[in-house]
Amino acid sequence: MKPKPTRLPALCFAFALCFAFALAFALATTLPAAPPAAVAKDPADPQKAFNFANKPDAMLQEQARVIYKQARRVLEAHPPSAMPDAARQLALFAIDSLLHDTRLDKGAAFTGFMEDVARRVADTLATKPAVPLRIIRFYNHGFILQTPSVTLAIDIVRGGRRVITGVDEEPFIDLELMRPIVGRCDALFVSHPHNDHADLRLARLFLDAGKPVVAPPGLWENESPLIIRPRSAGATAPVDFTLALPALRAPLAVRAYPGHQGKTPNNLYAITTPEGKIILHSGDQTGGGDDLSWLLKIREQLRVDVFLPQCWMARLPLVVEGVAPALVLPGHENEMGHTIDHRESYWQTMRRVQKLSAPVIVTAWGEHVDIP
Ligand SMILES: [Zn+2]
Repeated sequence: MKPKPTRLPALCFAFALCFAFALAFALATTLPAAPPAAVAKDPADPQKAFNFANKPDAMLQEQARVIYKQARRVLEAHPPSAMPDAARQLALFAIDSLLHDTRLDKGAAFTGFMEDVARRVADTLATKPAVPLRIIRFYNHGFILQTPSVTLAIDIVRGGRRVITGVDEEPFIDLELMRPIVGRCDALFVSHPHNDHADLRLARLFLDAGKPVVAPPGLWENESPLIIRPRSAGATAPVDFTLALPALRAPLAVRAYPGHQGKTPNNLYAITTPEGKIILHSGDQTGGGDDLSWLLKIREQLRVDVFLPQCWMARLPLVVEGVAPALVLPGHENEMGHTIDHRESYWQTMRRVQKLSAPVIVTAWGEHVDIP
């Protein structure tokens, strides 16, 4: 007998279909609509993100990066001036604010900012200036004097810990980024043996290229016979010496003043460029003690065109009066190896220099000032 066809499969199919529709309807009415993918999660690239919920560190880093970049834009539009306008001052104060926020000390934003400084300085050095003297500001109290005939670095360092020995060092700037800078300099002057002024691996780049390094007593004593030490630790009178440089027909004339930071010997270099400009760099001269006997009489010996004092020097107005420079360019702001109470902001410098007897230009790292 032919079996009676059953209707069970058709019934099952209809039931499953109804269940699926019911489930879909229930989900659609009880669950929130899925947001668009772009809102659901941050893009992998934080520079395109606008949602940092539950990512406070990433938010701070990205905010710092944005402000560093904007500060640089403002400084480019409002370059170094003895009368900085409100926009330039605010850009410098914004940099102060970031460099005094210890949450940002070793972050990607700070590293990127420092790398940008090194690249910009290398770019600036690629072209000889049309003026007799260009002064380029580097990190901390580092400056590079660039003239049509010669380029001289003073106290340039990568910053960070233990760069003075190079052992277990933690620099802020990769050594590779310094190679183009060293390649465009003819000599290095180091004022005194502290991490924020003396960088051994950087000095070795100069020495390996046969370029002279001028150093204070007690620094890298066994490193290289190419290191020149114009003064002894006990010197009390300035020492005149010359540097023979391949770039120059006549040797470079330099005077080393036998200064101190506390009891540590600190050379103040007065460099006379082939173009006839005289630049005096203070190192970390503390501005007191027996050194005052010659420090306050420099004006009687030299006609200083540009004085580069560290911003927190004791008796700064008195010393500037004694040096009588045509222009003051302070340095040493925002030394990141110090705790924030002694990093020294640009706004602090601006207060300190208000009563100096010479015009003052406050510069940011990577900027330069042309001296006609
Ligand atoms: Zn220092």
